Order: sequence, then C-alpha cells, then structure tokens
Amino acid sequence: MQVNWRTIKGTNNSYAALSAACELYGISLEAVDRPAADITCYSLNSIIEPHFREEIRDADCITVVGGPHATACYREVCTYADYAIIGEGERTLPLLIEMIRDGSSTTPPGVATARSARPANSCVWLEAFPPFSRVRGYIEISRGCPFGCKYCQTPRIFGRSMRHRSIDAIARTASCYRDARFITPNAFAYGSDGIHPRFDRLERLLSALDNNIYLATFPSEVRPEFITPESLDLVCRYCANTKVHFGAQSGSDRVLQQISRGHSVADVVDAVELCLEYDLVPVVDVIVGFPCETDDDQRSTLDLVTWVARHGQVHAHYFTPLPGTPLAGQQPGPVLPETQKTLGRLALKGKATGSWIAPEARFFKQN
Ligand code: SF4
Repeated sequence: MQVNWRTIKGTNNSYAALSAACELYGISLEAVDRPAADITCYSLNSIIEPHFREEIRDADCITVVGGPHATACYREVCTYADYAIIGEGERTLPLLIEMIRDGSSTTPPGVATARSARPANSCVWLEAFPPFSRVRGYIEISRGCPFGCKYCQTPRIFGRSMRHRSIDAIARTASCYRDARFITPNAFAYGSDGIHPRFDRLERLLSALDNNIYLATFPSEVRPEFITPESLDLVCRYCANTKVHFGAQSGSDRVLQQISRGHSVADVVDAVELCLEYDLVPVVDVIVGFPCETDDDQRSTLDLVTWVARHGQVHAHYFTPLPGTPLAGQQPGPVLPETQKTLGRLALKGKATGSWIAPEARFFKQN
C-alpha cells in the first residue's frame, strides 16, 4: 500500500516527525505534490486549510488530514476528507494506516470520520519517537506549554504540561547536523515545568552538544521573563546566534492582560535592554488587530515597535482567530494607517518582517 505526504510550505517539520514515526511501524511516507493512491496525508493549519479543501474533496484516493486545523475542527474536516487526526499524530497516524491496510473498521483513538470521532486517549512520549529520520527536520526538544495565551493553539493541542526529550536523544539526533536548531514553545524552558526555569538542565543540554547551536532564535522563540542574566550567559557561552527572538505581542498592558499573556510591557522592555547589555540583537514578536485592542492600545504597540526597532528588529503579524482557542470566531480589529505606514517603513530598512496585512502570505509563493 502506497502512503503519501502532500508537501505544503511550512509543514516540513510535521512531515519529518510523522515520517520518522511511520518508519517505526514499517510504513514509508512518500512526498507528493498532489493527492495520489492509495493514501495521501495532509497537515493543515487554519490559514491554509481553505486552499486545500477542494483538492482533498476531489482526491481519487483515501485522504487523512491532521494538524492544528483538523484537531480543532475535525467534524468540518470530515465533510471533505476520509479521516481527521485529532491531536498528536506520531502514534495515531501509523495505527490508522495499519487499520486501513488491514481492512478494519475500528478507528484508533484520536481519529474522526464523518460517522464517528474518538478522542485521543494519551499524549505522545517524545522519547518514543525520533524528531526525524530519513526526512530531515529541526530537533523538537520540548512540547506543551503551561501558559494559556488566548490566541494560541499550542496548549490546546499539546497540553499545558511541558514534556522534554532527553539530552541523550537530542545529542544523538543533533550529531547528524553541523548546526543544531530546535523546536520548542520556549527554548529557555528546557528541562523545566515551563514556568520556573531550570538553567542547570539547559546548560547540561548545551554542553552535551557538539554543534553550532542556535537557541532562542529561529525556528523557536522564548518568553520575555525567561530572558535573564543566566539564560543570556548560556547563549553567549554555548551558542552561535547573535539574535534572541521573543514574544511581546502587545505594547498595551491592558491587552496583555486580556489575552492572558502572563507578562507585562515592562518585562519586554527589561528583556530588550538585557539583550543589548549582552550584545545580542533582540527580535520581538508583536500581533496587531486583537479583538480587544483599541486604537490607543495599537498605538502603544506602535510605540513599542518604534523603540524596539531602534535597538533590534520587530516581527509583526495580524491577529488570526484560530479555532480551538478562546478567541476563535472573533473579528480581528483594523490595522491603523499609521501602523501600516510605520511597519512598512521599518520593513524597507530591514527592521521589520512578518505579515501584518495578509497572514497567508508566509505559506504561499509570491509571484
Ligand atoms: S504563545 Fe507561547 S507562551 Fe503563549 S500559550 Fe502559546 S506557546 Fe505558550
């Protein structure tokens, strides 16, 4: 039985992880750029999902859809796909493929069809699955987040307890790369409960790696209150990156409180200043258009953006109401003309990146 993976920009890490998981069950996931027999698997987020509905509905093969959108909206996904995977796929996808291959009609936990849905009955133990194998990806070191930012799907998909891959497993995987880059909700939280840092454990990890290490920068970021002299010391001693990427999200304390970020604007300012003391360039994430954001709130974010850009860089996005989050279905607010003008001006100077007008732009090629 041929099992395929539909290649879509931005989903390579899911392919890498699920391909490695399927290999453990003797299943090979082959990359395709259109649906093909016998089974084609998709990972879709809610921004790109509308672009693939028709393709999946018209596919002349069995279709399986996972990822954040299928997890949150599995009933809707099952109106056009044969199967939706609810939650983590490392164990569920191979079990589903085995079920299809064996002609069984009993779906495994974590799978929905048009007629039934079984919730997942366990979470993935990271140690049981390599982060990648034949298909290369970044090294996922931790999963889950104890914070509950209202716009974010991470704790809703992966739970609010942080799970960590062991240092031995990370070092073994990292040995096939010269540069080590990590996937984690908060790189400085490695080894901890996600709230109280365990920099001793983070240092043990870093000292076990024989790589050019990129920590707290692409493809992962950190929270501002984890930026401390201890964490930046570790970056300076063990890592190759000269930038530290962290989330501020808003320059308004009122908005930060409303979206349950769990830190203040002052924490962001302290983090930027500390990065500068350590000669590290701060790269700060912001989101504009939160439903609760007033024009004055957005102007406060703009003030923060302008100040950050003097010292570092800004990564800006337009709010997307993601399904499965407390802000699902809410209407984004407008982007003020002065916000567009300022971000546009900063982008031209190389001080701002992101997609504050068209969120889907990062998933599709620009013509
Ligand atoms: S935005 Fe970051 S800190 Fe907040 S819930 Fe998501 S992963 Fe956790």
